[in-house]
Amino acid sequence: MKELQTVCIRCPIGCHLTIREENGEVVVSGNRCPRGAEYGKQEFICPMRTITTVYNKAGGGTLAVRTDKAVEKSKYFEVLRAIKSAPEPKNAHFGDVLLENVCGTGANVIITEVN
Ligand code: SF4
Repeated sequence: MKELQTVCIRCPIGCHLTIREENGEVVVSGNRCPRGAEYGKQEFICPMRTITTVYNKAGGGTLAVRTDKAVEKSKYFEVLRAIKSAPEPKNAHFGDVLLENVCGTGANVIITEVN
């Protein structure tokens, strides 16, 4: 039987979750609230993460960027490579989109800080 132990990151309490499949259903225990059950099920089926990183501009300086929604954790390194090789935007501003639908995830990479 597949079982996963993890910590819920939806709030600072950090409940220790146990997630397992029983009779075709994903069952979460250890959560103090429904958000933990939702988080645990997602972690068990398909972990998702918002990706935050830094884009290095060719002439110096950086752009802080992040995906505008969570993407499959398994695509983490693929998304990072796409960001690193993205064409450098001219006159970048806070909120601009660096990459649309990055790696087919449906998420856009947006600029959150220009340095
Ligand atoms: S299960 Fe609920 S109370 Fe526990 S860490 Fe997650 S969000 Fe917080």
